[in-house]
Amino acid sequence: MEDGGFSLTGWHCANRQLKAEVSKGGAQMDGELWKALTHLRHVIGERNFTLWIEPVCWSRQGDAVWLEVPSQFHREWLGRNLLGTIEATLRERLGPGVRCEVTLGAEPRCGQGGTSVGDVAKSRPKRTQRALNSLLRVGRLLDGYDFGSFVVGPTNELAASAGRRVAAEPGRQFNPLFVWGGVGLGKTHLVNAIGHEALRARRNLRLACLSAEMFTNMMIHALRSDKMVEFRDRFRELDVLILDDIQFLAGKERTQEEFFHTFECLVGAGKQVVLTSDQPPSAMARFESRLRSRFESGLIADVTPPTQEMRVEILRRKAACRGYNLPDSILRAIVARCGASVREVEGGLNRILAFVEMMQRTLSAELVDQLLGPERIAPVGRSLTIAQIRDAVARDFQVTVEDLIGSARDTRISQARQAAMYLCRSLVRASLSQIAAEFGGRDHTSVLYAVRAAEQRRKREPAWGAKIDSLERQLLGHPKEGVALQRP
Ligand code: ADP
Ligand code: MG
Repeated sequence: MEDGGFSLTGWHCANRQLKAEVSKGGAQMDGELWKALTHLRHVIGERNFTLWIEPVCWSRQGDAVWLEVPSQFHREWLGRNLLGTIEATLRERLGPGVRCEVTLGAEPRCGQGGTSVGDVAKSRPKRTQRALNSLLRVGRLLDGYDFGSFVVGPTNELAASAGRRVAAEPGRQFNPLFVWGGVGLGKTHLVNAIGHEALRARRNLRLACLSAEMFTNMMIHALRSDKMVEFRDRFRELDVLILDDIQFLAGKERTQEEFFHTFECLVGAGKQVVLTSDQPPSAMARFESRLRSRFESGLIADVTPPTQEMRVEILRRKAACRGYNLPDSILRAIVARCGASVREVEGGLNRILAFVEMMQRTLSAELVDQLLGPERIAPVGRSLTIAQIRDAVARDFQVTVEDLIGSARDTRISQARQAAMYLCRSLVRASLSQIAAEFGGRDHTSVLYAVRAAEQRRKREPAWGAKIDSLERQLLGHPKEGVALQRP
């Protein structure tokens, strides 16, 4: 299980262990991969399996499966003879989107005698930079999930700008960076982009990017093989730890305990931690409160469903990756027929392109209409403006709108300004630069600080929380609980 994957050396013994873990529900993802490989064993036969599959170091994140092989010869042989069958078997078992990538191990590191992060640190001068990078990482960064392909807009601007800063100066600010939001809103993409960017800036960075599920599986494996010391060393020597889908640790006390100590050790030493979750820390009920409070101690940034413009842009970039330069009218037609989730929009694109590629159909608005059905009408809601928020907050805090826009720093005015900026973010989903412009043309980082300060106060100070709650009710127009705004 070196470097975030596992090798199949000692298959029988490890298989028993994993089966036990799978049956306890503790290692579902790698367990799935494991089951698929068991099936592969039947498909390709015992001899091929022992010769070509057992020496491979496997790891998986989402639909990407990496096979790290010990030699160039092994790689070529697999590519020529078995890769198609492997991919087909994994797709059948794990889902149609699965893609395999065969990489060459920088050092012999699979199975017994594999190299741990601790070993690498000791013998660092002997190794090339490239080998060092690949050895120091745990898990893998997903190819193509970088900032270049990440579309930034009002729904993810805070997360993206904090992410860029974290990548530029890991451990300096926003530690941990906690990104949360619904499924398919780009969290995994963003944190992988942070990883790519951080490594681009400092190639010898010790960085790990893995799912919380993989962290759990690695810990279970270390516990069972009496290798907890190595497990701890491996994580505690990192410069950057990116843990995706931390909600997976809910209710898993032992893993939470281990993670807590790793977290304390890293953050205490000024190392960067980046986490993603489908919920904000405050809603993570099945987590120890000390962990929740650690999650809240850095920057919490949410991502919400992308705007229509962002979805069009995301789709344009996804199509470009596949070699298509689609006209705006087609992109808009697809977006208009899919829901807010990026995955749904991508699914729409895949369907269209599959028809174009396989059925030799011409790409047209009619084809989009035929395949994706009629346009969806967006729900009509009351639209709130920044000006309305400024008015309501000024009234509530008994200051003037000019005070909010100006630069006076007395406590009441700066608190009102923080509240107003925070509400502009949370209710209107305005971008940082939009808010900056509407509040006297200040620097957008000062907006970031104000939003963050208001958000933290809301959690810590009940009186402030109640004030913000009441403002929200007013602005969202619940007349029984607050005064609805007069102006449209
Ligand atoms: P999550 O981790 O939040 O469930 P993912 O990061 O897996 O979501 O994103 C799902 C898909 O949508 C991926 O293909 C990703 O590249 C794409 N995606 C989501 N948001 C963006 C964005 N802002 N820019 C570019 N692609 C995006
Ligand atoms: Mg994800």
